[in-house]
Parts: sequence; structure tokens; C-alpha cells
Amino acid sequence: MMQDIRLGDVTISAIPETVRPGKTPETFFIGATREAAARHYETMEPFLYVPETGQIVMAFQSFVVRTPRRTILIDTCNGEHKFTDAVVWPTRPWLDRFHALGFSVDEIDVVLCTHLHIDHTGWNTRLENGAWVPTFPNATYIFSATEYAYWKNVAETGDVPPLQRDGVWQINCLPIMEAGQARLIDGAHEIDDHVRIEPSPGHSPGHYCVRIRSGALEAVALGDLIHHPLQCREPDWSTRYCWDPVMATESRRTLLAAAAQDRTLLLPTHFPGPTAGYVSQDGAGYAYSFLDEEAS
Ligand SMILES: [Zn+2]
Repeated sequence: MMQDIRLGDVTISAIPETVRPGKTPETFFIGATREAAARHYETMEPFLYVPETGQIVMAFQSFVVRTPRRTILIDTCNGEHKFTDAVVWPTRPWLDRFHALGFSVDEIDVVLCTHLHIDHTGWNTRLENGAWVPTFPNATYIFSATEYAYWKNVAETGDVPPLQRDGVWQINCLPIMEAGQARLIDGAHEIDDHVRIEPSPGHSPGHYCVRIRSGALEAVALGDLIHHPLQCREPDWSTRYCWDPVMATESRRTLLAAAAQDRTLLLPTHFPGPTAGYVSQDGAGYAYSFLDEEAS
């Protein structure tokens, strides 16, 4: 699990929901082969894959960013009482960990959803007396306007893509809008002196990353721009669940090149273990080095 990270006067904490084996690279990524993945696995930490099956291991987690002025939650996992066919693990540890870190739902000022997929919007709402209500009563939830319009249309036309269950927009997003707590934004946007959202479309139409700055230090929460370190080695491997795989690759390559150059700390939602780390150019791709836990 990721240890708390201090970035100048900002603290970043992870709220994990689960860590579990996902798909195999050849079924998850377009253009991936079992052989290429096996070759890359040899350079990687053993907690990143299942040797017997070749499956990638994925974490599901949120980040809480505490700046001097605001407490900001980035992505909200799968949530509770939702989509029982899709979520087959206990979800309560997320809320327990949230509370164990000393946070309360009342103190979250801003909720940022990098995109509106099922596993990034779950705790946006919770069930109260049979109704879906915002989990964070005092928060402004920032959704990409493009993303919101896309999923609203999907919900209304019934044309639901794979892995995105019917009802995600209705249950995880619409109640936020109806409560008057949603703010729809397009393009880059400053949330705070220390936190800024930056468009990185492709995995979904309005996907954004979250840049966190303190003095000369920078970190970026990646959402689903990258799902697994294999995509650092092979930046052209977009997933079969990407809305526009070519655009996703462009966004990923742009971010990776800049992060390697500037030595930006990366916070990739789905990387298990210590999660946070740095990329460095290595051949045609990038190597991912986890942040030394002692250094955090
Ligand atoms: Zn995801």
C-alpha cells in the first residue's frame, strides 16, 4: 500500500479498496502479446503480475490531497451496494481506511473524478433510506463537461460500452447534479494554488489528470491514463476498453515524455504496491521505479 507522501506543504494519502488480479495483457491491451509481456515482467516487481496465469495485478484506490487550504479527494473507487455483478470484493475497507486516516466525509471540499467509469465514481454517492445521496455533503464534485455529456447520452440511448455497467451515470453522477454539487468544467482548470486538472482524453472522452504542485515539486494523479507498468514499457498499448485507443496512446506518450524529463512523481491509480513512482526513458519505452517507501 502507498505510504503517505509529503510534497512540500501538501500531503497525499491513498485510500485503497482492493488489490486483485485482472486480465492477461493479451486480452486487456490492444496489440499486446503474451511473449512481450513475459519479457517485460522479468524486469518488474513480483507483486505486479501472477506468474502462473500471466494476469496483471491491479489496485483500486483513491487519493486524498491535503493542501494548506483544501482537502481534495481524487477518484472514488467502486463504492458500496452497487453493481454486485461487477464488484465481487468487500468495499467497506475503503471507508474504514478513510476514517482511520482521520478524515471525515464532511471535510472533503472537492471531489475530482478523472473520468466517469464505474471504478472511479463509486463512493461519489451512498445509499440512504433507499435513495442515492452525495457521500461528501460539503464537496464540489468536478466532472469534465465532455465526459458528463457523453455518459448522459450513453445512459439515455442505452448504448453502454463494455465494463461500464448500465446505471453508473444514474447512480454515481446524476444524484450529485441533482443535489447542486456538480461543477462541469472543460479544459485545464486550477482547483487550488497547488492542484490543477489537465485534459488527457482517449481512455474516455473527457479524461483528465490531476497535477499537484508544491514549490518545485510536482506529482500527477493519472487516473486511467496508464493501468499497469507494462504500458510504460509499451506506451502504445491502449486497453480494449479505451474510447479512442489512438488518442489514449497520444495522451500517454505526452505525459510519459514530460514526466521522464521533469522527474515528476506519478500516482497511477491502478498500480499495486507502493503505487507512486518515477519513469525514466529506457529503449523505446520507459522503466517505472517505485518510490522508495523509506523516502516517502
Ligand atoms: Zn480505472
